[in-house]
Amino acid sequence: MGFIELNVLNNAAQNVALGIDLGTTNSLGAMWKDGRPIVLHPEGDSGYVPSAIHFPEKGMPAVGRRARELALVDPAHTLFSIKRFMGRGLAETREDAASVPCPLSENENGVVQFEMRGRKFTPQELSALILMKVHDQACKALGGIEVTKVVITVPAYFDEAQRQATRDAARIAGLDVLRIINEPTAASLAYGLDKRKQGNVAVYDLGGGTFDVSVLRIEEGVFQVLATHGDTHLGGDDFDRALVEVARKELSALLAPNVLEDRAFLQSLRLAAEKCKIELSNAPEAYMHLAMPESGVQWRRNFTRGEAEALWAPLIERTLHSCQRALADAKLKVAQIDEVVLVGGSTRIPAVRERVERFFNRKPHVELNPDEVVALGAAVQAHVLMGGTREVLLMDVTPLSLGLETMGGAVAKIINRNSTIPCQATEGFTTYADNQTGIEFHIVQGERELAKDCRTLGRFKLSGIPPMPAGMPKVAVRFHIDANGMLTVTAKEESTGKSARIEVQPMNGLTDAQVESMLNAAYRHARDDFDARRAADLRTEIGVMVRATERGLGHAAGQLDRETMLDIQDALVAGRAALEGALPDATTLQRVRDQLERATLPLAAALMDSVAKAALSGKKLSEV
Ligand code: AMP
Repeated sequence: MGFIELNVLNNAAQNVALGIDLGTTNSLGAMWKDGRPIVLHPEGDSGYVPSAIHFPEKGMPAVGRRARELALVDPAHTLFSIKRFMGRGLAETREDAASVPCPLSENENGVVQFEMRGRKFTPQELSALILMKVHDQACKALGGIEVTKVVITVPAYFDEAQRQATRDAARIAGLDVLRIINEPTAASLAYGLDKRKQGNVAVYDLGGGTFDVSVLRIEEGVFQVLATHGDTHLGGDDFDRALVEVARKELSALLAPNVLEDRAFLQSLRLAAEKCKIELSNAPEAYMHLAMPESGVQWRRNFTRGEAEALWAPLIERTLHSCQRALADAKLKVAQIDEVVLVGGSTRIPAVRERVERFFNRKPHVELNPDEVVALGAAVQAHVLMGGTREVLLMDVTPLSLGLETMGGAVAKIINRNSTIPCQATEGFTTYADNQTGIEFHIVQGERELAKDCRTLGRFKLSGIPPMPAGMPKVAVRFHIDANGMLTVTAKEESTGKSARIEVQPMNGLTDAQVESMLNAAYRHARDDFDARRAADLRTEIGVMVRATERGLGHAAGQLDRETMLDIQDALVAGRAALEGALPDATTLQRVRDQLERATLPLAAALMDSVAKAALSGKKLSEV
């Protein structure tokens, strides 16, 4: 009897995971197959999903290539570059809002919303549509196998809120995120640089709309981000724009002003410029060609590579300036960089390659497709996380310190900037007022000494603390950053076990430029901040001393002589004055604090006496 081989198709693949590059311009999925990562694309398709969404009058939004086509005829209902809005509030997106064709608003959580055709969408929901499209394409390429586990890449400068927004997008898309990894780390993985025993890598990523450079250290297969720098508004689009500007100047003599400002005309011009730019990467000269029969436009213009490169030179110099800054931040010299990796479609421009090679004095890795390298690296990581055999550990750092606002407005830093993640730290806190049954925690990010100068990440409250004198309850606050950079803060009161926690919500995001400006501000204000911090701490201390003195007088006033009582009253008046109104300077506060300490010494002695007597007679202090 013969056996018939059954080819049972298991639709839900359990042991495989996708790597997804969720890009500003394009997104892409990849997977480990037959010993290497490959891009997943259905037959006859590149697999790239343009990160664009079109909203038709009726029916489902179009995502990807179709959306980009529809943008030509209906730009007012097409969204691009949604990644720029991930994890950000309205106030932080003003610069980007100008290029959005629809109104923006903010929901109750401070998340930006796009208002399209009478409906509101968060960046997370829109990114979910893109992720679903990438996932769909990938599953099609796999012959209908359903893979739900994914590794998604984000820029190294993404903060917790932006990473959380990315996770939320995946959750909305029904995907299970194994890990969020940094794009430069992914690119290095794709080139197998994790196999190096040690070394420093510069990853230069020039995409369609953004540029960043990251310096990574590899040690025994472990990656650490040493520094990152860049410009979130510099990319291939600017190279296109340089050609568009030339064309517009020359066309202004031929066309009516209303045509020159028309959105659809500008979009066609931009596409013609991009096509010409791409041709110039392979040929010494190329034509920019514009045909709009409906407007009677038929125009052609020749660009030589030399002419285009002259227009682009300032843009390339800006990227090299960022490279210089990243090296300085990483405290490395050019000669200490062992590998250079090029990422992003715009690194195909020969002038970019030449300048980067000259800057680093070394040939960059260009063997892999620069548009695919991040997705391929994500696939390597996905493979490893599913138990595959490439030993890789990831180590990234927190770009800014994380802490809590303490009484008086100062910041208690719990996790310091540049801590390697995953990491955790716990600190003890207590109540400030008697019988306080709740504590509000204000989580802040930044290097400044006062909470008001840092960035708010979230607030939460621990209630149900039993009434006790100030300073008695013990509350342990734990900060934990997981391997994806997600921050969880947990507060637990020891006597009752009552606890509360928060995962930092995607309120607002940060660009790398903002991180840098926060660091610069901390540096500039270091001296003033030191004084302000000292003043805030002194004021808190004075508050505690005033209340303790008032309480102490209730117990032991009768045992003090008139002069001591007058000294204490004077010190209390000065102390209470220091607690009201604007924060006095640290020197004044120090004087008030010392005055209080001096004046209350006899009171402390009398109280100690009462305590000793009470102990001897078996009474509790509260009964004295
Ligand atoms: P990315 O976001 O990494 O996919 O990069 C997209 C950018 O790369 C767009 O600005 C493209 O115009 C640009 N690009 C793609 N191919 C080339 C090429 N051969 N030469 C120059 N720029 C290119």
